[in-house]
Amino acid sequence: MKALETETAFEVLAKAKILEKQGKNIIHLEIGEPDFDTPKNIKEAAERALDAGYTHYSPSSGMPELKQVIAEHISETRKLDVRPEEVVITPGAKPIMFFSMLALVNQGDEVLYPNPGFPVYESLIKFVGAKPVPIPLKEENEFGLDPECVKEKITGKTKMIILNSPENPTGGVLTHEQLKAIADCLENRDDVFVLSDEIYSRIIYEGKPESISQLPGMKEKTILLDGFSKTYAMTGWRLGYGVMRKDIAGKMAQLMTNSNSCTNTFVQMAGIEALKGPQTEVDKMVSEFRRRRQVIVDGLNKIDGVTCKKPHGAFYAFPNITATGMDSRKLGDRLMNDAGVAVLPGASFGDFGEGYLRLSFANSVENIKLALDRIEKSLMKL
Ligand code: PMP
Repeated sequence: MKALETETAFEVLAKAKILEKQGKNIIHLEIGEPDFDTPKNIKEAAERALDAGYTHYSPSSGMPELKQVIAEHISETRKLDVRPEEVVITPGAKPIMFFSMLALVNQGDEVLYPNPGFPVYESLIKFVGAKPVPIPLKEENEFGLDPECVKEKITGKTKMIILNSPENPTGGVLTHEQLKAIADCLENRDDVFVLSDEIYSRIIYEGKPESISQLPGMKEKTILLDGFSKTYAMTGWRLGYGVMRKDIAGKMAQLMTNSNSCTNTFVQMAGIEALKGPQTEVDKMVSEFRRRRQVIVDGLNKIDGVTCKKPHGAFYAFPNITATGMDSRKLGDRLMNDAGVAVLPGASFGDFGEGYLRLSFANSVENIKLALDRIEKSLMKL
């Protein structure tokens, strides 16, 4: 258990709540969830499902109806031929990470993962007794992966490569060339799997997202992770899924049987409506995020000691704060206590995140502007 780590976002949120209880006003830019409500048609579908008696177990891998809809959705969006038996539905997408590690990675194996990156990756790699091998994401590279670095770090012991595009916390999006170069590295390695975390695939501001599973020979090696939390503002519903080889899907279903039994059935019914119903709310949410992205990036770049690249996807700004002379944890604490703005230190996303902060723009333009003003004033006092 000592190897298991945590997500700082939950800790910072708890700290902010204590300060709020003491009467301090805090602007929340630490949380990684859309501030919009779940679209009405999805909530109504869940209500209808409850009334219709969808309150019992479903098969562990998910309801056939939703698996069919997900298979069609992934086939269409990723231009792949996905069948329902290659889909496993889970309570949120996080269990797909956990189960992938449990099912495929042994003690002593090596797992490559993006750093800075979602902290749960490193935590789980350590938890299963494998060796975490960070792939640094660099600002000068628009936070994309350097395929040469991936090539260098692949050894005979490599079992898995984790990719996340669009990326949390940097907003980086992997290019076709980067994905192709990574796929080329794996051409003769049928023993290496890719966990492709595509949870932010619909929140992208330029171009189209691409999945490594679309490249020749890669579908069989990829576990594609996606879900409903971010796209449909459904974080609290807990609904996600993985798409993978049929034999691995069977093992993941067994892990589901041994842990959750299945995912909530009325929530699965709402998932069908989310994917099949109108997508206007998703489009509206993404265009609002695009507007906020401009406000936050422009505002950060006006602050002395701070520079910020425009994120290409997700809803996080990842400004460089090295010129302030403070490390990211100290600056994060200062902004919380002095400025009343909750942000996450870059270092909480791995060693290569030091020198940065993560600010979520899943908050109103009004609050973002106020937060920027408070941050600027607090830094001027340094
Ligand atoms: N992957 C990434 C990169 C994330 O940021 C998150 C949520 N913070 C997840 C996966 C998990 O999403 P879910 O709510 O579906 O478990």
